[in-house]
Amino acid sequence: MTIERFDQYPLRDELLSALRRKGFDHPMPVQVRMLEDPTLSDGDLIVQAKTGSGKTLAFALPLLNQMNAGERTPRVLVLSPTRELALQTAREFQWLGYEMRIKVASLVGGMDMERQVKALRDGAAVVVGTPGRVLDHIRRGSFKADTIQSLVLDEGDHMLDLGFKDELEAIIEAMPGVERNWLFSATMPEEVVTLAKQYLDAPRKISLVDDAAKHDDIVQRAYIIPARKRFEGLANVLLFERPRRAIVFCATKLQTQELAERLCDEGFKAGALHGDMTQRERNMALESLRRGRNQIMVATDVAARGLDISGVSHVIQFGLPGCLETFIHRSGRTGRAGQEGRNLILLTAREAGEFRSMIRGTSLEVEWLPAPDAEEVES
Ligand code: ADP
Ligand code: MG
Repeated sequence: MTIERFDQYPLRDELLSALRRKGFDHPMPVQVRMLEDPTLSDGDLIVQAKTGSGKTLAFALPLLNQMNAGERTPRVLVLSPTRELALQTAREFQWLGYEMRIKVASLVGGMDMERQVKALRDGAAVVVGTPGRVLDHIRRGSFKADTIQSLVLDEGDHMLDLGFKDELEAIIEAMPGVERNWLFSATMPEEVVTLAKQYLDAPRKISLVDDAAKHDDIVQRAYIIPARKRFEGLANVLLFERPRRAIVFCATKLQTQELAERLCDEGFKAGALHGDMTQRERNMALESLRRGRNQIMVATDVAARGLDISGVSHVIQFGLPGCLETFIHRSGRTGRAGQEGRNLILLTAREAGEFRSMIRGTSLEVEWLPAPDAEEVES
């Protein structure tokens, strides 16, 4: 097998140097696919590759590679479903584009508008944002999107969900000069591919996935626990598994908040992340997990997609996710970039039945276990 290196591809010196400084020598498979065929950059694309497989650089590298160094006109727009993901993606473009003197503006809700206006005025060539705030800037005239040449919908299947439809269409209308629309995600349900045809022009499809539910680096376990014992079950699982870092997913904001508080009461270092918090609090919650100040982050599905937090050894789903795609993306917060991870799902007996039908037809291998009891934890 030939091992590809980044310097085997016709990448600009500034990009190769940035990759080297970061310690990235070898492209991941989805990055190889994007780099080995330069004609892919000519038009519309739908790209499906596993969670944690390096999709961000797979779109950032070819886009920056064809940009002029020192470009000061907005050329690339990346839309993300959540603020935290947009900020993360903006940081990736920043270190990668730094030596090319490419500036990045992150247009996300809940954060200072004036600073975003200034970043745009200062010549940002790459704009990353959430649809609502991006549209806000377009309508105020602070973001002139008509020079944008490349549009990336990261978590593309979710971005085409009905929830973003109106904003997305208004943004697309403001960008008549777009030459390429790229959709990236770990999941690409057939309905979305059909829907995408409204927006994309004869897209080429690249898939490195045969079964979206299966992930080689993630161990899957399901625990059946009666509802009234679920908290105790969670605490026991945490004591037993001793995760380095864990994200616990809940169905509602209220449950997320309450669960985080209960875990703190029990002596765990836990924080919450949900949409009723201020953006400052949300950023701090994430930062506390990233820096290891907290061991556990309890979150709604606002954290289900795209977030890349190193050291997350465990995902724990406290109850059934809304759909298979959500299950896949929640699980994918662990087992990233070749690291191993565990996804544990805590279910009542009734939910277990629903979960079995949810994963029917996939090749997901789940180990079913009874609730761990306190004695087991202590021994
Ligand atoms: P995805 O979008 O597919 O879920 P990300 O783009 O978030 O994945 O990348 C997952 C992790 O892999 C990130 O921490 C990223 O920095 C890292 N990564 C990306 N490309 C490489 C590479 N070529 N070598 C080593 N690590 C990489
Ligand atoms: Mg991603």
